Amino acid sequence: MQEPIIIANWKMQLGIAESQELAKQIASEATDVVGTVVLCPTFAALSVVAEVEAINSQILLGAQDCYFETKGTFTSATSPAVLAELGCKYVIVGHSDRRYLFGDTNDVIQKKMRAVALNGMTPVLCVGETAEERKQGQSEDVVMEQLKTALADFPVDQPCIITYEPVWAISHGTPHVVIKEEVEPLRVLIAAYLRETNRVAPVIYGGSVVVDNVQSLVGPSAFAGALVGGASLTAKDFLGILANVRKLYAV
Ligand code: PEP
Repeated sequence: MQEPIIIANWKMQLGIAESQELAKQIASEATDVVGTVVLCPTFAALSVVAEVEAINSQILLGAQDCYFETKGTFTSATSPAVLAELGCKYVIVGHSDRRYLFGDTNDVIQKKMRAVALNGMTPVLCVGETAEERKQGQSEDVVMEQLKTALADFPVDQPCIITYEPVWAISHGTPHVVIKEEVEPLRVLIAAYLRETNRVAPVIYGGSVVVDNVQSLVGPSAFAGALVGGASLTAKDFLGILANVRKLYAV
């Protein structure tokens, strides 16, 4: 059975001391985690959040983005090599904030996927349609285009995680009511494509995951985990999500 992976995306919501404090609380209280838990703080907090691995080796470090070059004259860019040096094991690539606020195209995302893998980390690729695209009946086409381009030159045997994160479902402070039937067809579509192309990669879900709905979205025959934004910003909520996931996988 594929073990679940739960990824906290703290976006630009917490300062350095706040990130350190929250990471410590999660690491000391999440004592019987099932699967993998990844914390993705803001770049400047990576080095302090990295310290939690000493408290709880099941809590791993991730970054929210990186540049696709490893070294050079790229003012303000973050090298994947530096992220690896800081202890990151995962890097989120293609988050909708990056696509729509910072202009990351499918081609840029393809390069970032490779750069992350070349530096020994696992990319967490986000794909998902906007509300307008869903209304126009384009969800499948948009998601498949994003997926196919991102994986076009990504080696089949290289680990990666695919997150179906519909843009319309992202909470931005107020969680949406997400119904399994709205998102499950896309999981099936992505999983079928991965099978056809001989890839083994977990397909997880992102967008308004909270304590009360995680069990309806994640599970051994549903999404293989979750990318959690708003509900990962307090220890109580995030630990509640981890506890509910654990129950789903109890033998
Ligand atoms: C996200 O934007 O990656 C996310 C998962 O946000 P939220 O859980 O707040 O919808």
